[in-house]
Amino acid sequence: MAEQRVPLIKKKLLLADTMHYLSTRGHAPKLNFEEAVLAGLAGDGGLYVPESLPYLEPPEIAALAGLPYPELAARIMTPFMGEMLDEAELLALLGACYVPFRHRAVAPLKQLGPNHWLMELFHGPTLAFKDFALQFLGRVLAHILATRGERVLVLGATSGDTGSAAIAGCSGLPHVDVAILYPHGRVSDIQRRQMTTVTDANVHCLAIDGDFDDCQRIVKALFLDRAFQERRRLVAVNSINWARILAQVVYYFHAALSLGAPAQAVRFSVPTGNFGDIYAGWIARQMGLPIADLIIASNRNDILTRCYHSGIYGMEGVTPSLSPSMDIQVSSNFERLLFDLHDRDSAATAALMESLRQNGSFMLSGRPLTRLREHFSAVMADDKTTLSVIRDVRQQTGEILDPHTAVGVYAANTATRAREWPVVTLATAHPAKFPDAVMQATGHRPALPAHLKSLGELPERYTRLAGDANAVKSHLASVIS
Ligand SMILES: *Cc1c(COP(=O)(O)O)cnc(C)c1O
Repeated sequence: MAEQRVPLIKKKLLLADTMHYLSTRGHAPKLNFEEAVLAGLAGDGGLYVPESLPYLEPPEIAALAGLPYPELAARIMTPFMGEMLDEAELLALLGACYVPFRHRAVAPLKQLGPNHWLMELFHGPTLAFKDFALQFLGRVLAHILATRGERVLVLGATSGDTGSAAIAGCSGLPHVDVAILYPHGRVSDIQRRQMTTVTDANVHCLAIDGDFDDCQRIVKALFLDRAFQERRRLVAVNSINWARILAQVVYYFHAALSLGAPAQAVRFSVPTGNFGDIYAGWIARQMGLPIADLIIASNRNDILTRCYHSGIYGMEGVTPSLSPSMDIQVSSNFERLLFDLHDRDSAATAALMESLRQNGSFMLSGRPLTRLREHFSAVMADDKTTLSVIRDVRQQTGEILDPHTAVGVYAANTATRAREWPVVTLATAHPAKFPDAVMQATGHRPALPAHLKSLGELPERYTRLAGDANAVKSHLASVIS
């Protein structure tokens, strides 16, 4: 068995403890789970992280093997949720979360090669892994708001998949409006239609002139705008919301257990944009799951891979790619990892983020950089590589990959650390969600699953707005009470 590194935080929670969440920048009040979910971004601009993590000894991990997915999820999530739900309520909520998934195993593993597995995370209602987080977040919000009798506006920016998953998770919920900003003309046809064809009156689709980072900047500005929030509390659905990360921790356990953890270690290759999905893997690892490598797979928008190799985290413009859900300029959740890499020093984290804001870059060096390189690998695949992976994998195995998953498969095949352990590539989207790239690579157009075939004929409903926070504010003020 390979050497197991000691996790950075090792603290066992007593059952009576209520988990608290603190800001990566150190100047916001500590919150419980419910408050952290409602808050999203912390008041000091930081992100909420658990104050400590539950640590599972190998026999405790072994005891989770073979549990149905919702029960596994309940076991993993309970220590993070405090008194918000008792175990039976949580199990009922989680049971409902995975009903809309169209595969009995929820997150099935499929063998791709001798030591390589795909974990299919695209069997949810919108065909991307974000359904795991947003089916959960929608139900958690419904539960919280029902007990508080409060109304919220769920607000998020999307480069494609978050928006449709958030809408699927929140449409028709009482006490909730949902407004999603997406870059006009830069999301795929199917992604757009999955948002704009939803008819519930509480759904507002905003097509913004600009790129994803413009959308994200506007959303951040609204969250820091106290006056705007006096009208209606805002809730973040982008991957900075802790509830989303938490829901994603579960499938790392699920995959590793299926492949023999805790006796065996596993590597994961994760198609990465905002660093939410792979950060969930980092949490699983610190909870004691034997993960021998976490592979950051980037497309041409490779700020993380560049930082990994040079230490310099520097903004460049966004280049549209075949894997648009990873087209980002900065990776929001990377701040959470920076906090851990700096021994949870909020002043050091805040200083880096301030340098990023002022100079468009910061520099990692010394121990934090060494740690990043010790616990992660990082590989970039450009569009040409992405296409050749889709083509080769189809020829060799018959499997059709979506372009995001293809970036992950390339990274899994390229990363060199701990190759004696199997690697699981997270298949983050169904190929039919990105038919043009698949067509370009293979000459075949993947078919949409039967339940989505009518998408092309339904009427669309959205509002086009300038890439400007004031335009968005005044529009929202006119459509919500
Ligand atoms: C959102 C998304 C990603 C990137 O996930 P992050 O959590 O932002 O790193 C990768 N692939 C697909 C298909 C996505 O929708």
